[in-house]
Amino acid sequence: MKETILTGIRTNTDMTLGNMLGALYPMVQLANRFSKDHHINIFVPDLHTIIAEIDGDMQKNVIRSIKYYLALGLEMNENIHIYRQSYVPAHSEMTWILNCFTYFGEASRMIQFKEKSEGKGENVNLGILDYPVLMAADILLYSAKYVPVGEDQFQHIEITRDIATRINNRFNTDVFKLPAPTKEQAKFMGLDDGLRIRSLTEPTKKMSKSDPSENSKILLSDNPKDAYKKIMSATTDSLANIDFDMFNQPGISNLLQILAVLTNRPLAEVTSVYAGSSNYGNLKRDTAEVVENMLTEFQAKYNSISDEDVLKVFEAGEKYANDIAGKKLAEVQKLVGLR
Ligand code: ATP
Ligand code: MG
Repeated sequence: MKETILTGIRTNTDMTLGNMLGALYPMVQLANRFSKDHHINIFVPDLHTIIAEIDGDMQKNVIRSIKYYLALGLEMNENIHIYRQSYVPAHSEMTWILNCFTYFGEASRMIQFKEKSEGKGENVNLGILDYPVLMAADILLYSAKYVPVGEDQFQHIEITRDIATRINNRFNTDVFKLPAPTKEQAKFMGLDDGLRIRSLTEPTKKMSKSDPSENSKILLSDNPKDAYKKIMSATTDSLANIDFDMFNQPGISNLLQILAVLTNRPLAEVTSVYAGSSNYGNLKRDTAEVVENMLTEFQAKYNSISDEDVLKVFEAGEKYANDIAGKKLAEVQKLVGLR
């Protein structure tokens, strides 16, 4: 049986360079590499999206997110399945069942929950708490082994394994196949650790699309010239010495990281080019140029893909997803006595 590789990305706003390098691009590379003998499920987590503020542009954003994959060079074939989460009702139904096997304590210990509920007091919507359980359903419905995500999502892979194991043990079955542990996931992706691009203005934080500061992030829709300027004005430090050191020089290290990934070179090699230099200008200019060129090329490809192209892709993907997810849901409904 073919293993399944699964990924989803929220669509509430535009995406950042961090999302591109940490999630989109590795996924496209993986899909192209593995789609001969693996199922590749790429879904739009629209149910996850409505957890955050709803801005009315969801349909546009959904189409856009798929165009991103296609523009990054995803080569479609019969093993690649692209679908919208809410068009496969089994995701919601499975979430409810999994909820009944998830503890409030473990859900409320998730770092993302803590971060996203901070300052909201008791007025935290339950979707924020339940997000990892919906994610567990997304994974378990398709028995996905690999879920290539950034490091900030590793905890959610672990809770998926915990919930699945709990249910398997409770009913003494192997109805759920566990996703691989996060270390193995990272290895499979060819990364030692999840890649984490930093904010350009506060490099101790990661770059996030929800960051209200425009200069903190490069958006994929940014005018390439503006992106150049953002890199040039990125926060660095006053040590006057280039070194890869995320702790003492997070701004400089972030630029080295971006440059290495975009030029497809090992970090050590890129670092050695600039190491010891007291002038940050060259590194900034080189990085800014590479980002500007990448965005120009990416946006031209993006603009050549039509909405109709994307809708056709959904039609086929949702037929497949409903079939697979529906069967798994039926098995679990039977197990817990609903059928
Ligand atoms: P938000 O601020 O709304 O949380 P985000 O930019 O953190 O947005 P997510 O939707 O949380 O993006 O995550 C989408 C994917 O991008 C995930 O796989 C996540 O691990 C990855 N990702 C997010 N930010 C970065 C980053 N700075 N560097 C590398 N990967 C990232
Ligand atoms: Mg995030």
